Amino acid sequence: MKKRFSTLIAGITFILLTAGCSFYFIEEERKIAKPKKIEYVEYKGKVEHLFFHPLIAYPKRAFKGDSQSEQIDMWFNTVPEFNRIIESLYKKNFILVHIHDVYEEVEENGQKKIKRKKLMLPKGKKPIILSIDDLSYYTSDQIKYGTNLKLVLHRGEIATLSINDQGKKVIRRDNEIVPLLDDFVKKHPDFSYKGAKGTINLTGFDGILGYRTNSKKFNETTNRYDIENPHFLKERGAVKPIIKRLKETGWKFASHSYYHLPHNQISLEKLKEDSRLWKEEVESLIGPTDIYVFPQGFTFPYESVESPYIQHLYHMGFRYFQPVGHETYVEHLGKVIFQDRRHADGLGLRLQKKYFLDLFDADQVIDRQNRPAHVKYVEEILEKQKKKQNQQTENNNSNEMNQTESGSTTSYHSRTPHSGVLFHSFMNQHKKTLHKQPIVM
Ligand SMILES: [Zn+2]
Repeated sequence: MKKRFSTLIAGITFILLTAGCSFYFIEEERKIAKPKKIEYVEYKGKVEHLFFHPLIAYPKRAFKGDSQSEQIDMWFNTVPEFNRIIESLYKKNFILVHIHDVYEEVEENGQKKIKRKKLMLPKGKKPIILSIDDLSYYTSDQIKYGTNLKLVLHRGEIATLSINDQGKKVIRRDNEIVPLLDDFVKKHPDFSYKGAKGTINLTGFDGILGYRTNSKKFNETTNRYDIENPHFLKERGAVKPIIKRLKETGWKFASHSYYHLPHNQISLEKLKEDSRLWKEEVESLIGPTDIYVFPQGFTFPYESVESPYIQHLYHMGFRYFQPVGHETYVEHLGKVIFQDRRHADGLGLRLQKKYFLDLFDADQVIDRQNRPAHVKYVEEILEKQKKKQNQQTENNNSNEMNQTESGSTTSYHSRTPHSGVLFHSFMNQHKKTLHKQPIVM
């Protein structure tokens, strides 16, 4: 009996001890799994904006040494460059936001105006807007130079369709900004504020996202867009699920104009025609947007918010106007704002390293394995700089690309000199265009 009793006691003790141990382990696990409490603080500082073009998925086709290759070197990035930039932004505590997380339209005393919103971010995080221009996979100067062919849906997610170096059509998720960023945010949710990704800035003359949704095609004989596109309706149907999925996964859209004409030379009539076509053929697919991204980075001439160009686009629904600059610069005009966007392309990486130090080290980012070691435009600029430095006195030799040389900055930024002055000065001096210009009407 005694033996039985002591066995019972030993058994109970054993059960209690093991139960205690498991309670202890469960408690420990809970402690480990418990997420750290995030402290949110209101962010009132500068909001950065960085933009890209579609990525070069196949560098051998991009850098083949012809004249267009130099353009590609200037304005595009390779896949490793994009990945390195994103890693650096994340390490430097940036967090993706949309412009609508930062600003909103409000009505005060019967007047509509754009105001800064209260933006609560995890302590230490800095907001950055990301955008992609011309994600159309243009037939003339993108797909022949190593970009993908189109965005597609693969197992419910956005992927790319491309032709690999063996000549085979392949579906991938590791060679374009959209799937790369989707996966990065999945891995690092704290890189995105409320699931924000980027803004996709679309023209219409050659369709969108690789789908030829344009009603007319370019006619080389007449130099006009007067050839009917027989696949127009089919392509419009095919792109709709892609747009839907992009919207569901944190992507937004903006107008990049219809024809991509430089706006510093555009007439008001041309702008009206251009924005009408954009509404008809692009907005009808992606839905309304209040963001207008200037093609080639140039603004139209404006003295104030009463400028007929601004007035026209305002009545078309646009509030956020975005040129290009070497730093993020904001000009507040009451009911609209202008925000310059920085370009991390070959031109930026090769020649504007010092301006990117807050975001990344351009020397660590640049893809030396794929980009040519020497490019003519860089040598020309460096040569010019050297000459200039020899001529200039000490107090006017500070700017890398000489802001005053073109002498035309006031013509398109007559009110305030945007930071785009370096970029535009370069464009003027070198008569460069981001794309082959369609000649219309
Ligand atoms: Zn563009």
